[in-house]
This record gives sequence, C-alpha cells and structure tokens, in this order.
Amino acid sequence: MKYILFAFMGLISSTVLLAQGLPKPGCTTILADAMFSEVDTTKPRGVADNYHTWENGKELLVKFMPGGGKLLREKVMQSAKEWEKYANIRFRFVPDNDPNAVIRVQLGKGHGHNSAVGTEAKFRSKDEQTINFDTIYLSDITYYISRLQKKGNSGPYNVGNIEDEMAIEPDHWSEKELRRVVVHEFGHALGLLHEQSFPGAINWNKSDSVYNYYQETQGWDRDKVDFNVFEVADQFYTNGTTYDPRSIMHYSVESWQTTDGYSLKDNYELSAGDKALIAALYPKGQKEALKLVPKVEISNFNKLTVTTQTARKGLVIEPVFDLKTNSRLGEVYFVARLATEDGYYVRTSGLYYNWGGTVATYKKMTLLPNSKVSYNKAKKNFELFLPFEYIPDLKGKKVIVEFSVYLDDASNNQYNKLMYYSATNPLSLPQQ
Ligand SMILES: [Zn+2]
Repeated sequence: MKYILFAFMGLISSTVLLAQGLPKPGCTTILADAMFSEVDTTKPRGVADNYHTWENGKELLVKFMPGGGKLLREKVMQSAKEWEKYANIRFRFVPDNDPNAVIRVQLGKGHGHNSAVGTEAKFRSKDEQTINFDTIYLSDITYYISRLQKKGNSGPYNVGNIEDEMAIEPDHWSEKELRRVVVHEFGHALGLLHEQSFPGAINWNKSDSVYNYYQETQGWDRDKVDFNVFEVADQFYTNGTTYDPRSIMHYSVESWQTTDGYSLKDNYELSAGDKALIAALYPKGQKEALKLVPKVEISNFNKLTVTTQTARKGLVIEPVFDLKTNSRLGEVYFVARLATEDGYYVRTSGLYYNWGGTVATYKKMTLLPNSKVSYNKAKKNFELFLPFEYIPDLKGKKVIVEFSVYLDDASNNQYNKLMYYSATNPLSLPQQ
C-alpha cells in the first residue's frame, strides 16, 4: 500500500475525442481516507464526515492558488458563499500570498473537480491546493463549440479545441454548471460527503459496462470506480436524516448504471436536506454543532523530530504540536509508521510494533474534554520509541516516518478516524 494518502488524481484525458461536446468530469474527492472504519449502516444517515467538520462559527480563510481570472474568481467566491446563508461559518477570501489560508483553491486544468473533506485540508502542505476546479468544464462549452462551428470545424471536438477558443475569447462561463460544481466542492470543504453513498440508496450495476464508462469518461481504473462510486456506501456517520436524492452532493446516475433502472440528473441547487444538514453541523446562534461527535484538533504542528539513539537501540520520534479536545472525547492513538523512501509501508507480521501489518509504534491516550495540551514545546513530554530490532532489513533504503493521530469514538461505534497526518523526508537509518 502506498503511504501517501492525499494524492490528487489526474483524470481527464485531453486527447479524448467526442462528437457531442465534452463529458463532465465526476467529482473526485477522495472519500475513503476520511472513513477508514467499518460502521453500523442500519440507521438512516445524512452524509457528512462529522469528525472532520470545522468548529462551529469558524471563519475559514480561503485563497486562490496562482491562476484564474478576476471574473471567474468572483463567481467562485459568490457561489461558495451560498453555504453561509444556512451554516454558521464564514469563508473569508484573502490575498493569494496569505500563508494562513486553510482552504486553497486551484482554478486549473487536468485535475478534475475535487476537495479535501473538511479539516482534512489541514493535512495538506501549504503549497498545495485543497480544492481543485477543472475550469474548462466550468466554461460555456456550447458557446465555444458554436465558435468552432462558425470557423468550419464540425467536430469531433477535444479539450484542446475548447482551450484554444477560451484563450482567444475568455470568460464565457456556464453559470449553472459553475455554481453547481462550486457549491458541491465547498460542501466537501465543510465536511459533506456524497449523497449517493447513502446505504442502500442506489443498487449499482457493477458490470463491465459501468467500469468501462468511467474508464472512458474519467480515466478511472476499476479501483477508482470502486472507491469513488461504489465502495464508500458503508462508511460514514449517521446524522439521522434520510436519503436525499435532491442533494447537491449527489452524483448524477444513469439508469443503465443501476440494476433497477433508477436514475438521477445533476442537482443544481441546495436541497432542503442539504440546508438542514449543514445547519445542524454549523448551527447559527449555538456554540456547538447539534451533531457533535468527539474530536481532537491538532494545530501548530512545528516538526516531527526523529533521532536514532544507539544507546537505547532505537528510533525516538518526537512530534511538536498543540492538541485541543472538544466537549466530548473518545480515545486517541498517536501512531508513527515506517515507510520506505519509495513510498511503501514497511510490512511486518510480528506480534509487536505492528499497526495493521506495518512497522509502527503507538500510544493510546484518553484525554480530558475541553483540554489543551502542548507536546514537546516548552518541555519534552511526548515520545514514541521504535526499537531497531523490530525494523526489518531495508537493504540500505531510507525511511519515511509517518505520524498520524486516530480517534476512536466507541459511543458512536466509530473507530480509526484519522485526525492528523504528517511525514518526514526520507531519513537514513544507522547500519545495524
Ligand atoms: Zn464530490
């Protein structure tokens, strides 16, 4: 298994030739990372990742990565703010050079539309976007095709044709599609998941034709189709709501994709269910979310120090960070895992220093509600230790030490929620 959790996927093949316009890219927000655990799926759910919602009432600083014209940026800002009508949250757009922006929007091409889910944005490095929009698919493609037709180009058209026309005459946007996509991706940024993941909502036809469809239109292999379309169904948190086919967080569904002929067109507006769910997650006039679950917030993560101590015969791992808990708390695991420099976890079948089959060291802690703790700041007060004897021979390869914080919420039967993630650069281990 690759250790890198939050890689973006390049999806749209620019050489796909199509007779009729261009297919819309599916939203490729990676959901399974937020939802490792198996959970009870018998109850009705509203599809949010409650463990990665922001603090209620928070003002989120948002910036654009380089790129994207003024008009497009204005339209994105305007659509994002749609959520503010119903949620006790503010998106404050700051200048491009502001280093404190937690949400970073890329208006680019070739990476599909996707977003980090809620506070997962904090795991991403500061020079990386947390939301990606593939701007060509926000453009008024019909308009650009009509330009091509006037020039005598009767198709089929490809992405390059549209790009060329956009370069000559920019800023023709599809208002409706742009709004839908922006509201949808900012919904992820607030912690919402895909509504089609609702257990039992859709009887997917897992046939070759469906896999082929996503292969052709999105460039997804079978794993990605399982991941993005089918497999997340069992893995999210209950909010006590019912399945909402009108949610803006729902994919469109073609009848041939289901075993019972069910189909659904894209939704362009926030549904009543969307409004109710976001208002419960971020209630106005309330301090805490109505759907509050235990959470830990890791902040000011300065560094991850790893030292080899020959006297103790092991690696000493000392992350430097602040931790804050909310009013409800579960148990927290601090885990340091080893990967090799080429990006694979170091496997083990040993009884000790084993986290899910990988070489790791961890500590379990129960923290007090509403507490704030600093680790390894004023004084050294936290370390993870990994004895050399539990590290297999890596044949001279360097190692990456990955530090993760997981939360177990037994009261809600939810486990292994990833609350933080960081990793070192490749390090050399001493020869043994
Ligand atoms: Zn999505």
